[in-house]
Amino acid sequence: MRIGILDVNIKRGKPGQCWVCKKPIELKELHAVVVLRYGKFQQQAFKLAAAQGRAKSKKAGFKYRRLHLKDCLAVWLIAIHHYRTEARSQRQGRPKGSGQLTQMSDEERLVRYRLVRRRAATLRLIMKEEDDARGRQLILRLRDLNKQLGENEVIEVMSHRSSTEIRLLNEKIVRFVHDQPAGTL
Ligand SMILES: [Zn+2]
Repeated sequence: MRIGILDVNIKRGKPGQCWVCKKPIELKELHAVVVLRYGKFQQQAFKLAAAQGRAKSKKAGFKYRRLHLKDCLAVWLIAIHHYRTEARSQRQGRPKGSGQLTQMSDEERLVRYRLVRRRAATLRLIMKEEDDARGRQLILRLRDLNKQLGENEVIEVMSHRSSTEIRLLNEKIVRFVHDQPAGTL
């Protein structure tokens, strides 16, 4: 499994922070930097950030992890391997290229990827939310994201949620949307 480009660096300038243990990486300390996003995909991410006025430098869209060489690098590699293997096995073998995304450009794909991630995060928040007012805000955000996803909206049966999760989620949505005075949503 290819994780990224592995660099071994000496920390200069100012101290950094380890992605795994969150402790400092001190000046002059030898440590690992794993570049996760680079090349073509980083260029697309950069173009997108530039188009949206978010690109502070040519490095926009670059994704890397700074890690202690001792223990933390190994812990992180094992975790990311486990996480990706799990994600793969849950993909349930939809044949590559048979999806609906094949017609999209790299940039459209990246935009959609971000929307889908935000939407998934919003759904998780809705499941956990107990406060009705905040719940309503989350539903509004969800609707906005659904609208932005347009015809590429995630199809629930394909998004690997268990039936229990879908039921809980729907209960929450019903509660936040329908237990309101008319006209608030
Ligand atoms: Zn560490």
